Amino acid sequence: MSGRVPMLEAASVTKTFVVGSRFRSGGIQHVQALSDVSLKVFAGETLGLVGESGCGKSTLGRCLLRLYDLNGGRITFKGRDISGLGQRELRPLRADMQMVFQDPYASLNPRRRVGDLIAEPLRVHGRRRESEVQDRLRELMDLVNLSPEFLTRFPHEFSGGQRQRIGIARAIALAPSLIVADEPVSALDVSVQAQIVNLFMDLQDKLGLTYVFIAHDLSVVRQIATRTAVMYLGGIVELGETDRVLHRPAHPYTAALISAVPEPDPQGNIRARTILRGEPPSPTNPPPGCRFHTRCPIAQERCRVEVPLLRPLEDAHSVACHFPLDGPNLPNGAAPGHA
Ligand code: SF4
Repeated sequence: MSGRVPMLEAASVTKTFVVGSRFRSGGIQHVQALSDVSLKVFAGETLGLVGESGCGKSTLGRCLLRLYDLNGGRITFKGRDISGLGQRELRPLRADMQMVFQDPYASLNPRRRVGDLIAEPLRVHGRRRESEVQDRLRELMDLVNLSPEFLTRFPHEFSGGQRQRIGIARAIALAPSLIVADEPVSALDVSVQAQIVNLFMDLQDKLGLTYVFIAHDLSVVRQIATRTAVMYLGGIVELGETDRVLHRPAHPYTAALISAVPEPDPQGNIRARTILRGEPPSPTNPPPGCRFHTRCPIAQERCRVEVPLLRPLEDAHSVACHFPLDGPNLPNGAAPGHA
C-alpha cells in the first residue's frame, strides 16, 4: 500500500488529558493518552485497532474524526489537513466521517422515536425535503435489516443488537465514506456480535465504506479487519496485514494478546500461554524506554532506556521493538500460527 494515497492519515499525533485538581491531593496530572501515533487508512479497507482498555484506541478514534483536539501532530482526511479546524469548519466534513459507538443505548436519546433519531443528521445538515427524509429513512432501515414499522418506536423497545443497527443507520444516513466504530459489538452477546459484524461487512460491500474498527477482542478483528494496528499505552506497537500480525506477531505484546485468546489450536493441542506480568503502567507516569518493558518477558537493558520506533519489517508489516519476534522465538512458548 506504500504507493497509494491514504484516505485518512495520522502523523505523530499526541493527545494529553489533564486530570485532577490543584485543590485535591495528587494535584493536576497529565495523562498522555496518545504519544507520537502515525498511521494511514486506505479507501475501502478496514483497519482494526486493538489493545487492552486504556491503551488509547478510543482516544485515537476520536482524534481521527477530530472529535478531540490534538496536542500535537496532524490528521489529514482526503488530502486536507483537518488538525486545526474549528467546529464550524469541521461541520461539513462530519457528513463524510461518522462514528458508531459501543453502547448504542447511551448514544440514542431515549425520549425520541427511532425515526427522529435516524433523521436527525439528515435534518441538521438540511439537505432534503421532508418527503425525501421519509424515503431515506425507509432505505436506511432496509440497509440495516430493520422493519420500517420500527421508526415510530422508542429505543428502549429494542434489543441491544437492534439498537446497534439503529446506531449504524444513523451513522450512514449522510452517506459517509469513513466510519470509526468504537467497540461496536463489545456490549453484545456473542451470537449477536456475529450478526452485527456481518452487517458492517455487507454495508462495506454495498456502500464502499472505509472503517476504522476498534476492538479488544482479536477474534472480532480477525473477521473484519484488512490490516490491524496493535496499541499499548498510547502508542502503536505493531501494524500490518491482519493475517500476518495475528499469525506471525513480531511484538511480544501482540504475541501475548494472541496467546490469551481462549481458543483450541487446529491440532487440538493445549496451547502454551504467555502470561503478562502485572497491570499496564499508569499513563500519568509511563516507563522510560520501551513502554512495555515492565511486562515484557524478553526485555533487555536497551529496552529500559531507548524508545523503540515503529519500523518496517517486510510485507508492509511494522513493529516497535528492539528485538522483534521471529516465528518460533515467541516468549514462553506462545506458538505462531495458532491465533
Ligand atoms: S523493545 Fe524490548 S521490552 Fe519492548 S517489546 Fe521489544 S523486547 Fe520487549
